[in-house]
Amino acid sequence: MRDVVKKYDNGTTALRGVSVSIEPGEFAYIVGPSGAGKSTFIRSLYREVKVDKGRLKVAGFDLLNIKKKEIPFLRRSVGVVFQDYKLLPRKTVYENIAYAMQVIGERPQVIKKRVMEVLDLVGLKHKVRSFPNELSGGEQQRIAIARAIANNPKVLIADEPTGNLDPENSWEVMNLLERINLQGTTVLMATHNSQIVNTLRHRVIAIENGRVVRDEAEGEYGYND
Ligand code: ADP
Repeated sequence: MRDVVKKYDNGTTALRGVSVSIEPGEFAYIVGPSGAGKSTFIRSLYREVKVDKGRLKVAGFDLLNIKKKEIPFLRRSVGVVFQDYKLLPRKTVYENIAYAMQVIGERPQVIKKRVMEVLDLVGLKHKVRSFPNELSGGEQQRIAIARAIANNPKVLIADEPTGNLDPENSWEVMNLLERINLQGTTVLMATHNSQIVNTLRHRVIAIENGRVVRDEAEGEYGYND
């Protein structure tokens, strides 16, 4: 990302010239106060937000010049996890994960095998037939992570993934993200969780008022909330 600017239609400038380079296999936290531009930054990486100026390359895609028909290919390379899980309520655990693979045209045999593989990775094979409302928050987030990595993305993006979880479930989610990162996936995580950032040390990129104000290897959280 180089000199990236994002101004919303209502006139708010959310990113005011952001430059940052994240290498394959890195784990980086995105921190900063509310309204700083973290979500805009994160959403721009999978083209949920279209930035106005600068250069932005993600997993080989040039996001200022990407064509509409290329966006599904970008989304194969970038898995996303949200604070509120966003599982499909009328689909089972199996169907939620399989669906993410069906939409990119994956073969049924591959889907069957991979769904069980990622469920095994997150320790929830026994929930394969459950519906989201039959799972705890922590379990739902682990399923959401399984879904996000089903297509073997290069990058996993997590927007406050522990925001709705108690400490025990938060650590379980972090354990998973850590393992996924150790297998080679780049992980970017926006968070307000100071304990996690200060304990599980990784690169810290702090955004304030639409600018990167700090970028440290194995940094601290650095705010009092
Ligand atoms: P954070 O995730 O750090 O809380 P955001 O990226 O959500 O920050 O917001 C950055 C700024 O952009 C804020 O001033 C916010 O009000 C504004 N903003 C965010 N989303 C939109 C939107 N869709 N339309 C207009 N303004 C927005």
